[in-house]
Amino acid sequence: MSASAADLQLARYSFQRKLDEIAACKGRATELISLYVSPGKQISDVMSYLRNEYAQSSNIKSRTTRKNVMWAIESLMGRVRGFKEPPRNGVAFFVGSKAVGADKSEPVTFIVEPPEPLNTYLYRCDSTFFLDPLLAMVHEPDTWGLIVMDRAEVTIGLLRGKRVEPLRNRQSLVPSKHGRGGQSQHRFERIIEHAAHEFFVKIAEMSGELFLPRKEQLKGILLGGPGATKEYFYKEAYLQYELQQKVVQPLFDTGYTDEYGLKELVEKATQTLHGLEITEEKRLIQRLLNEIRKAETGLAAYGPNDVQHALEIGAVDTLVISEGLRQQRVTFRCTSCQNQFDRTLPDAEIDVVLDGPCPKCGQRFLTEAAAEDYVEGLFRRAADSGAQARLVSTESEEGEMLAKAFGGIAAILRYPVASTTALRARPPP
Ligand SMILES: [Zn+2]
Repeated sequence: MSASAADLQLARYSFQRKLDEIAACKGRATELISLYVSPGKQISDVMSYLRNEYAQSSNIKSRTTRKNVMWAIESLMGRVRGFKEPPRNGVAFFVGSKAVGADKSEPVTFIVEPPEPLNTYLYRCDSTFFLDPLLAMVHEPDTWGLIVMDRAEVTIGLLRGKRVEPLRNRQSLVPSKHGRGGQSQHRFERIIEHAAHEFFVKIAEMSGELFLPRKEQLKGILLGGPGATKEYFYKEAYLQYELQQKVVQPLFDTGYTDEYGLKELVEKATQTLHGLEITEEKRLIQRLLNEIRKAETGLAAYGPNDVQHALEIGAVDTLVISEGLRQQRVTFRCTSCQNQFDRTLPDAEIDVVLDGPCPKCGQRFLTEAAAEDYVEGLFRRAADSGAQARLVSTESEEGEMLAKAFGGIAAILRYPVASTTALRARPPP
């Protein structure tokens, strides 16, 4: 199965979630170690660097800090040794003792393989983990296709986050309109038009080759170039149908058709892109609100219970989740009466429940039997039932409404489903 848009969204969500967890760790002293290993780095070099750091750390004055740092480096060396070479995008390690409550700390280890190549090799020991290089990858994982063209040249590339990646450049053989020799003007123009046509076909072919395998990831295609050629190319629909549908309006004027032209294109399109994303979200939430307004016949559900129910019976067409949702689905078990129950709640409230009484026997012997990230679970259930899942930012007014009014979760349905509260209110048959 190819990576679908939902898979990518989930990957993005999980990555952000992991970073949140790492960022929340605080050391009691300078004893949290972050190590970034870029793709080309030799593991043996990293190891000798760590050995040196280990030797240095024996000079740390505070006994506790020294012990913790030396433990962290040792543990780190064990982890690093497990790699023959860095993974494709490099790898980041976060090892140390995080503070938990008064005077106590516990060891933590995180290993992150980033979604994009790391270009940093870095070792840092601080009272927090250093996350900047990974955070930079979070907010712009979207990929756009880029084409800048005129009759003389085309450059095709990708915009990934903020990075422009040129993929292919091709010069045409279209003769210049001014370069004609002794031939009749009419015949010469025909030759030019034919050569231009061939070139456009070639551009479409290359675009297909480069973009079709990634069509799931491509949010759209930006088309630009100097003059009117790009408009002609678009109007005549040279691009393969699926790609043509992805071309973003308007087309953009650029002065160049080389790599620099790609950068120009991205600069000009930035406003439009941001607007597009927000508009798409707005449209989705508006559709949701329209359905909610229809009450019982509406194709919408909102709030954790109703959405959960709709998912279970396979009624969800599109699951809409607020990016800000940070909850876990936890199964608690009472070790006294063996009572088991599930709760969906924010991370911070898990301990509150654990410290509290068992709802059945009232004893304070609750343990956490299982936990699952709520959003990840929703994504999985959506995928199982063939529903789409969409994460919505809280940047627009509509996105904020989703977060606040609907508990961060709603769904557009395939058919109307009675609300679970209504079901419960109804007398048993
Ligand atoms: Zn109990």
